[in-house]
Amino acid sequence: MSTASVTRPSDQIREVKIERGYLKSCPASVLYSSGDTVVLCAASVEPSVPPWLEGKGKGWVTAEYNMLPGSTSPRKRRDRSKVDGRTTEIQRLIGRSLRSIIDLNALGEQMITVDCDVLQADGGTRTASITGGFIALADAVASIIPGSTIGNGPLLDSVAAISVGVIGDELKLDLDYELDSAADVDMNVIMTGSGRFVEIQGTGEEATFDDEQLAGLIRLAKKGIGELTTMQRTVLKQ
Ligand code: UDP
Repeated sequence: MSTASVTRPSDQIREVKIERGYLKSCPASVLYSSGDTVVLCAASVEPSVPPWLEGKGKGWVTAEYNMLPGSTSPRKRRDRSKVDGRTTEIQRLIGRSLRSIIDLNALGEQMITVDCDVLQADGGTRTASITGGFIALADAVASIIPGSTIGNGPLLDSVAAISVGVIGDELKLDLDYELDSAADVDMNVIMTGSGRFVEIQGTGEEATFDDEQLAGLIRLAKKGIGELTTMQRTVLKQ
């Protein structure tokens, strides 16, 4: 879909656009675009927690992920009978990533669900969901605990994610669909704003990779996540 990768340097992320308060129907929502990938992240709050957490005084944060039929071509059929394996994996990843930076005890017995719906898919939909989902989560937390900010209230840090990959001899930051399809190795890296790793998913699909390439991929991912972190924090201050 994208033609941007033809000219985009290997160490640059796609253009990011963040529109906060996109929906009136929930306390926090973000339309997050990374190039041609567009995800709507909507955070809702409920005054209860799942049964296994009841009475513990702790809150919960969870996520759901979905690709809308028209988000890709050919259209992705809605499967109303079951959630497929990829969707399950991605929504659990988003949930774990968001929980990594929140103090659930400070949230009280409330549950925040961050729904990530992919409106347009051009690679990196899970990383966009995490980066945009964090902004929606921060706004949802502030709607419950006014004045809370990163480091002041339940949010201990920020979290963001980016993909990296190996194509031939080159290491590439932020794979769009075209790059993802050509990648020998692809990796999703999730890190906190203070530079700690939350999760790394890396696969040598077409080729194996060595220590040096791994170190290079991590370096590139750190650069990208540093930039995303700055954007998230700037937007949240507005
Ligand atoms: N994709 C698609 N249909 C699918 C799954 C993936 O069109 O059912 C495309 C979509 O552009 C997606 C890309 O393939 O962004 C890469 O998918 P992957 O599973 O690697 O996840 P992502 O990179 O989006 O997190």
